[in-house]
Amino acid sequence: MPFQDPKQPPKLPLHRAIRYKYAVCTRCGEELDPTSRYYCTYHKQIVLAQTKRNQKKRVKSGKCITCCKLRDVTDRRYADCSSCRKVAVQRKVKLREQRIAAGLCARCGCEKPVGSKYKWCNSCRAKSSGYRRGVKPVTTKQKG
Ligand SMILES: [Zn+2]
Ligand SMILES: [Zn+2]
Ligand SMILES: [Zn+2]
Repeated sequence: MPFQDPKQPPKLPLHRAIRYKYAVCTRCGEELDPTSRYYCTYHKQIVLAQTKRNQKKRVKSGKCITCCKLRDVTDRRYADCSSCRKVAVQRKVKLREQRIAAGLCARCGCEKPVGSKYKWCNSCRAKSSGYRRGVKPVTTKQKG
């Protein structure tokens, strides 16, 4: 059994693990959607719609969308429970710290220009300042 390697990261059924290894849709074997590691464009949409439906159901029944536990009455305006919210916040903070420690953009995780004194890469900084001031990112003009 060549695929029983414990180092194999995702826990998938064998045929799905093989598809994952060859970077094709784990449902049908078609080409992957560029933004997904598991599904083609078609199946990505299906899975996304399914997830959303499930989440809506859970929100309606007062359950946390992450762990399915019943939320407190005070938590009703959130989609997940207080402990899941805490975990999510911690995960975000940790990810940011890891990126900063590795010298990557804290926002998107891509590589920053060497020697950059900012925490964000150029495109993230351009985007954020553009959003705030309502201007387009500055492009360098040629002289003359
Ligand atoms: Zn597919
Ligand atoms: Zn929860
Ligand atoms: Zn970035």
